[in-house]
Amino acid sequence: MRTARLATACVLTLVGALALAVPAEAQAPSRPGGGQDKLEVYVGTLTPQQLETTRSAGVDLAEAAVSTDKSGNSAVELVLSGYQAAKLATKGVKLSPKKVEGKTASQALREQSAQGWSAFRSYSEPGGIRDEFTATAARYPKIAKLVSIGKSINGQPILAVKVTKHARNVEDGKRPATLFMGAQHAREWITPEMVRRLMHHVLGGYGTDAEITKLVDTTELWFLPVANPDGYDYTFTEGNRLWRKNLRDNDGDGQITTLDGVDLNRNFGYKWGYDNEGSSTDLASDTFRGTGPNSEPETQALDRFFRRLGFEFLINYHSAAELLLYGVGWQQSTPTPDDEIYKALAGDDANPAIPGYDPDISAELYITNGDTDSHATVKYGTLGFTPEMSTCQTASASVPDDEWEPEDCVSSFIFPDDEDLIAAEVAKNIPFALAVAKSAVDPDEPVSVVGRTTPDFVIDPFDVSYGRNQPVATIARRALKDVRMHFVINGARPKTVDVKEWKGGEKYGGTHDDYYAELRGKVTGAKPGDRVEVWFTGRKPGKGVVASDHFTYTVNSDIGGQVLVLAAEDVTGLSPVQTGTSAKYAGDHVAAINKAGYTTDVYDFDTQGRKAPHHLGVLSHYKAVVWETGDDVITRSAGQVPGTTTRSALETELAVRDYLNEGGKALVGGQNALLAQSANGAYFYNPAAPPECTDPDDLACLPLVNDFPSTGSARTRTSVAAAPGRTARTTRSTAPGRWPDGPARSTPRARPETRRTPPRSCPRPASCRPTSSRSSPARSPVTGCGRARHRSTP
Ligand SMILES: [Zn+2]
Repeated sequence: MRTARLATACVLTLVGALALAVPAEAQAPSRPGGGQDKLEVYVGTLTPQQLETTRSAGVDLAEAAVSTDKSGNSAVELVLSGYQAAKLATKGVKLSPKKVEGKTASQALREQSAQGWSAFRSYSEPGGIRDEFTATAARYPKIAKLVSIGKSINGQPILAVKVTKHARNVEDGKRPATLFMGAQHAREWITPEMVRRLMHHVLGGYGTDAEITKLVDTTELWFLPVANPDGYDYTFTEGNRLWRKNLRDNDGDGQITTLDGVDLNRNFGYKWGYDNEGSSTDLASDTFRGTGPNSEPETQALDRFFRRLGFEFLINYHSAAELLLYGVGWQQSTPTPDDEIYKALAGDDANPAIPGYDPDISAELYITNGDTDSHATVKYGTLGFTPEMSTCQTASASVPDDEWEPEDCVSSFIFPDDEDLIAAEVAKNIPFALAVAKSAVDPDEPVSVVGRTTPDFVIDPFDVSYGRNQPVATIARRALKDVRMHFVINGARPKTVDVKEWKGGEKYGGTHDDYYAELRGKVTGAKPGDRVEVWFTGRKPGKGVVASDHFTYTVNSDIGGQVLVLAAEDVTGLSPVQTGTSAKYAGDHVAAINKAGYTTDVYDFDTQGRKAPHHLGVLSHYKAVVWETGDDVITRSAGQVPGTTTRSALETELAVRDYLNEGGKALVGGQNALLAQSANGAYFYNPAAPPECTDPDDLACLPLVNDFPSTGSARTRTSVAAAPGRTARTTRSTAPGRWPDGPARSTPRARPETRRTPPRSCPRPASCRPTSSRSSPARSPVTGCGRARHRSTP
């Protein structure tokens, strides 16, 4: 620790306590786009700059098919209105309507509509899904009951069927309940087929299949095939197959045009309008969130239904991307305690619960706000999954010798109108659906089709502590009694202390924790150089005492300062090649801060084994952190190449984010500070490192995408200051953003060396790495398989 007085080498602005989110207001743009304008499938090859222009124009690239080659150009397939496409063209983004056998998607789909559909049916046509659900409930009076949960904006009843023993005599929600829901997005036709066929599977198995009989006798299964009946019916009318939203007449002109409709999966109250990336204020956008939280009658009906029933689980079927999503969606890389249940049920990339689907935290790559699952989870304690079902291309390729070929697909959303392919897709999904329903009886001990169980404890270990008194966290099953933390200093007698639940920070935490909680205890009385072993125990009803894994940390020799210099200069790295083995500028920062009257300690990335600092072990001990990167361009280890960065690049950022979330203050400085982190997915890392990612095309590598550098608003600003004697560069978003994910990502500050997107999905699960799980301090992404940066937004 050193002490001195203020220097004025550079003016530093602290990243303050996290600013509160103020919901952005929906604006009502007046502009052309109505009348004859239609949705169409567009394709093109875009440069990185054109891709950013497209994103900043409000086009939802998350929903688009995008694949980027090594030269940095991206082939895209987007559903846009003619007006949106023309507007992009004026900005230099040239796209053309996709043609299959000489026809545009809208032509091909119009012809197909005119011929009629063989396997699909609308909601309200005679013999359609509405009639079918009414008739089915009547046919099974002992175990089925028809319920209308409310009406659509055009007054159609939104029907659900409850299946349970004595369905009409047992109060709704009395037994553990699971909801299966489809067609919140109108064009995703495979999803109502999933829900209605699953219902028939259950009804048909009752009395003959022992497992299904037991399931129906002991739980409630609710089937809601079409959450957006108006929009779904609209897609059966000529020229409207690509419609996604409800039929809200946004501009009040008495007709439905491309300016109309609200995205029902962005309209829910929880985190509604949190930012303009996870949903849109643009009426014409496919993610238009509506004029207020729960503004749409379809949303209100579901909200009432969720509240009344108190479902244990929700499976909200969407398409098309072959994903199995769960957990926090509004902010990237945000694991939560109940993820332990989701992971046990969903499996991992190597062994997913639905074959060919990648299980993931909802916002690993793209964010959503106002979505259904998060609302149901946070408001009503319902554990939600969103399966993104198969694309047209994947389904067409699944049977090699049939008439359906991937190149015939006019859009990834247009699932083939083929009974066999639909039946195969549904069959593939049934085991997971039934396992979730079985798990409703005891959600924290779920029935897993991939043979996984939930842990009692998940520890959050670290190697080094910067304090004598050290908080330590674990995720623990809430069902455990008498949870305690134990520690041993230098092999002496164990001490036992109480733990307290961590209720969340200023910005996140404290949600998705109905069955698991984050508990913390505190080690006291350690001295520099001591080695401390820590573990937790609890009493499990019927099982006795259970214990967590143990871990051991060392107390650093230099501790006790007020300000930490987090020196991440990467002098032992490759970009650029530097001399020496320890940070070059840490001493200058220390001198400047000491002159200001504050005491300091240093965490040197290069001498700490090139590891990120732990937010509790290291950062939590300081009132402020100066994160300086010296002359580094990008964190890169031996053997890595342009387009790649280290796992520690993400982990350092997430550690600082966690620190800020608990009231810390940080200043970021360096010639190229946050270059990789602000490049919006241009750099790839291996979440299971070591070994680090050495090829951006390796499927094990993931793009470094997160929201941290977009910091900035009137209340919160990140200044990136130079190392002493250098010119400062400042990152500041001009839009009214908020920490940590304001909308500033449309303006990348760094030019990536290469820019590239992995292919659509893991070609075979076997080619994917096993998940890294929580092998790093509880904050590493849970996937080990590279995947497309394009996905259907759930
Ligand atoms: Zn969808």
